[in-house]
Amino acid sequence: MDFGIAGRWALVCAASKGLGKGCAQALAREGVNLVITARGDAALQATAAELRGLAPGIEVRTVAGDITTPEGRAAALVACPQVDILVNNAGGPPPGDFRQWDREAWIKALDANMLTPIELIKATVDAMAARGFGRIVNITSGAVKAPIDILGLSNGARSGLTGFVAGLSRQPQLAGRNVTINNLLPGAFDTDRLQITFKGAAAKTGTPVEQLAQARRKTIPAQRFGQADEFGALCAFVCSQHAGYLTGQNLLIDGGAFGGTF
Ligand code: NAD
Repeated sequence: MDFGIAGRWALVCAASKGLGKGCAQALAREGVNLVITARGDAALQATAAELRGLAPGIEVRTVAGDITTPEGRAAALVACPQVDILVNNAGGPPPGDFRQWDREAWIKALDANMLTPIELIKATVDAMAARGFGRIVNITSGAVKAPIDILGLSNGARSGLTGFVAGLSRQPQLAGRNVTINNLLPGAFDTDRLQITFKGAAAKTGTPVEQLAQARRKTIPAQRFGQADEFGALCAFVCSQHAGYLTGQNLLIDGGAFGGTF
């Protein structure tokens, strides 16, 4: 299937590794020009080189910086000639007990996982509508549908974003101009973040990482973790010209882990 987005420009945030990188790779395969961001320049340059190898015809620009800061966002936006596709992503907040979180911890989580995507949407969405094409994908979490108690900062901040997007995506001046806004909700994906979580749990409990990972796999109907490239493939489809009638949705991709009917 031709996704019909070759030659468009995408800003993919937090894309040197993991799910953001998976999205950048899938968009590159569709011929989309890319601006990718991450905090560390070395991994970012390595990813950019991989992307250029995947799709020699596209332009790939890099912006090293923290996307959760006004400076990081400004630099990312300036680097992109026009944002046709926006993939919002940033690292998730740390786990913990809400009794230990002060106002600063909450503001940090809200900044990263709610207000940063909203600021980037604000900066790009009206120009998308004026051009008659726009695709915005927010990487959130399966925890929006099935909250995880130790991830209270994530549950809270991402639910705030989800509620906001539910309203915004239905504005006729956006949906009626072929601008869609959707959230992708990952379950357990085999990325650095997941490995770090297992290493932390192994250090605490003394149980080997592989044993913890295997126990977790068994809880997922697919009996495995997701791969970043399958996440990227869904992202690319949602960004394609074929998905103009899909907006305001929360698409869970979790190997069947969420047990509800809807
Ligand atoms: P990852 O740690 O593998 O990769 C994160 C990427 O984001 C890296 O490229 C890193 O440099 C970049 N990054 C992080 N914070 C940034 C910032 N402030 N500014 C710019 N770049 C930044 O993580 P991942 O597993 O790909 O997760 C991506 C998002 O999805 C996170 O918010 C995570 O909480 C969420 N999520 C992941 C899973 C999973 O199983 N992997 C499950 C649910 C939710």
